[in-house]
Amino acid sequence: MRLTDVGEFALIEGIRRLMRGNYDPQIIAGIGDDCAILRPLPDQDLIITTDTLVEGIHFHPDWMNYYQIGWRALAANLSDIAAMAGRPVGALLACSFPASRQKSHFDQLIEGITALGKHYDCPLIGGDITRSKRGIFINITVIGLVSRDKAIRRGSAQVGDRVWVTGWLGEAKGGLEYHRQAPPLKPEQFSSTLRRFLQPTPRLEEAAFLVDKISLTSMIDLSDGLSSDLRHICRESGVGIEIYTSHLPISSSTKALADSLGARPVDWALHGGEDFELCFTSQETDMEPVVREFRERFGIPLTAIGRVIEGRELSLIDERGERHPLPPCGYQHFRK
Ligand SMILES: [Mg+2]
Repeated sequence: MRLTDVGEFALIEGIRRLMRGNYDPQIIAGIGDDCAILRPLPDQDLIITTDTLVEGIHFHPDWMNYYQIGWRALAANLSDIAAMAGRPVGALLACSFPASRQKSHFDQLIEGITALGKHYDCPLIGGDITRSKRGIFINITVIGLVSRDKAIRRGSAQVGDRVWVTGWLGEAKGGLEYHRQAPPLKPEQFSSTLRRFLQPTPRLEEAAFLVDKISLTSMIDLSDGLSSDLRHICRESGVGIEIYTSHLPISSSTKALADSLGARPVDWALHGGEDFELCFTSQETDMEPVVREFRERFGIPLTAIGRVIEGRELSLIDERGERHPLPPCGYQHFRK
């Protein structure tokens, strides 16, 4: 069955039925009226973020199924909510499909979005479905909440803070290169790397854990790559940052994949985008118990990778202790 056989209203009605019973009391009205209605408590701030995925640029249906495409689309937004230490309340989906595409593909996309949304209490509360002449466009807007004035922003890093990241770096880049190059390798060898690329987990629970345990001065999620995203903290906070090559957390699976493809895993870790890990700064010195508990609870490392310094520059200290400028080589749209 093709989308053209079904029509927009039936598609919306299908999603509305799917969302029945999924709304928190803060959602007064979800799908089914001109606008969704939310009623946050008086001691909360609303946080809002949006992200667009374009077929052929952000995803290739040959590399991942529609469930994974939907999952990733929402994960990218939830990662931004995590980066503010907020919690999601609901999502709006605006998508465009060529009319000739299969209804089952649309259904799988919705399934991927709603499966991840269910896990993090982020139901679809509205949106729009249109036809496109070519290719699929998926835009998701997520509305979240954070206790008043408690959002962790990019602009308060202090000289002397340590720089931390959650999880492993370079995994999404590894997954991307694996699919792009289609090498004659067994995917099972690199399953953790490929899984992170296909179905990333937004670090919402990790962020909530961190703000509960320690005080963070700034935070960002890694969507464009460490070398690009850290620059935002430098600029907004008016500080420099130095990163130590030898501290970058790179999994053995990612190292093995990079070796097989003749790439440098350090380059993937520094410049690869879409890891959706959290990077934050903190003055906390006694981190050992937090690092241990984090690892036990979430099964991923929490690693100090650098330090906030005077100046405005982002630099890399290599294995020999030599300092190099770290240029932004992560992904940027409209850049060659
Ligand atoms: Mg972000």
